[in-house]
Formats: sequence, structure tokens, C-alpha cells
Amino acid sequence: MTGRVYLIGAGPGAPDLLTLRAAEILRRADVVFYDSLVHSGTLALAAHAEKVPVGKRSGRRSTAQKFINKRLIDAARAHAVVVRLKGGDPALFGRAQEEIDALRGAGVEFEIVPGVTAASAAAAELGISLTRRGLSRQVVFVTPRAAEGERGNDWAASVLAADTAVLYMGAGLAQTIAAELVGRGKPPATPVALVENASLAERRVLLGTLADLPALAQQGGGGPAVLVFGGVLKAALDRRGPALADAVENFLKRA
Ligand code: SAH
Repeated sequence: MTGRVYLIGAGPGAPDLLTLRAAEILRRADVVFYDSLVHSGTLALAAHAEKVPVGKRSGRRSTAQKFINKRLIDAARAHAVVVRLKGGDPALFGRAQEEIDALRGAGVEFEIVPGVTAASAAAAELGISLTRRGLSRQVVFVTPRAAEGERGNDWAASVLAADTAVLYMGAGLAQTIAAELVGRGKPPATPVALVENASLAERRVLLGTLADLPALAQQGGGGPAVLVFGGVLKAALDRRGPALADAVENFLKRA
């Protein structure tokens, strides 16, 4: 066994939001297994590699995880530099642990190269800090989505408890999310943002309150999106007109 598998974070989309380490490994890669959200410009850095799509997007057909694990192990037996390229950061909502466990089990060396996660890219698009002195000393990354057969988590409790919450893989469930959160006591005036395609030319930033969330989500274009909740959005909302700013002001007073 000669090869090593690199679990690399490709970042949120824009090819230049990639670490120098990732770029250097991609240049040396023999084979790259990549997710569907990885930009073609990022893949192009792997000039000499065989490129294998193994992408998953919710609701569409995907390569079974066990099969991906096996392909990584087989590739490491045939090549020196094997890359598993994942959107954002590989250690967040990317099923990396299943691949790590499989690699360890097979005695394959691996290394993780972190990437810019969608929450960070969304904050950049919004022009806000996710933490803020006196207002948010806590950020939660959470998804309402559970895999088939997996026990659901109480994502709503996390959002309710957090100063700032960033919800992954949830924009398509906006109606349910809004109803659940309001039903459990989250103020309808809680500032909300939907950030779609962060870092890419097709980016879209929609701002409002929890009460507006279902309507906001309808304006989305169906690209990858995160929902951001919390008072830190005030700085972004203030720029969108007095009505929203007032709603947020009231929310902050009560919070
Ligand atoms: N490992 C990735 C997350 C994978 S789960 C990371 O760290 O970012 C896929 C989810 O990430 C999408 O459903 C969406 O919620 C979010 N996402 C990925 N790219 C995004 C982008 N460019 N803009 C907004 N959200 C994005």
C-alpha cells in the first residue's frame, strides 16, 4: 500500500476560496473523487488527475456511501495521491467520518485539509460577524435533515437556544422550519437571512424576519443555501430599510 487519501475542503464554491495546501495537493493528485457542489475551476487545478464524480445532492440519485468508501480504498492501493474533494469544510455535514473510519479500518493513511464552510461564506456575503460582543457568544451549525433510517435530532431546540444559528440543508424546508420555531416560542421578529450560492456569481441574499421566512424561501433559486438566525443580522437588516430595522429593534429589546 503506497497511497494516501486527502479529505480536502473545496470551500463554498469560488475556486479562490481554497487553501494553498489544498491547491498544492490537487496539483499532485492522481485521482479526485468530487462532490457535486465542487466548482469546475477548482477541479481544473487537478490537471493530471482522473476525476470521478461521486456527488450527492438531496433528493437526487447519489453514489452509495459504502461504494465511495471502497473506491477510496481501492484507489489508495493503486495511486500515491488520492483526493476526496468535498464542498465547504470536510468535517461539517459531509459524512467524512464514515470515510475516515473505512480508511482507518483498511489501514490507509489519510489527511484532512480544512476548507471554508458555508456559514463563513454566508457571513461574508451578509457583511456581518457571526459573533458579536454582548450579543452573540455562541454559534450553532445545525441541519434538520436526517438520513434515511436515522433518528431525527431536535434541531429546533438548538436554534431556539443559540445566539446565532446557521442551518444547513434546510432552505427547502423553510415553511416547516418557520412553523416549528414560532410554535415553540421563537419570536416571529427574529432576524433571518437566506444566503444562496455564497461566494459564487449567482449568489443571492434574502433578509427578513422569521415570520417572512416561507415567503423569502420562495424567492430562492434552488441552489445550495443556508439559513441564518439571530440578532447579529441587525447590522445587515439596518441597511434594508426602516420597517425591517424596527422589527429587529423590537426583537432585540425583548431578547
Ligand atoms: N461541508 C459543507 C456542507 C455540506 S452540506 C460545508 O462545510 O459548507 C451541503 C449544504 O451546505 C447545502 O445544503 C447548504 O446548506 C450549504 N452550502 C454549501 N455551499 C453553499 C453555498 N455556496 N452557499 C450557501 N450554502 C451552501
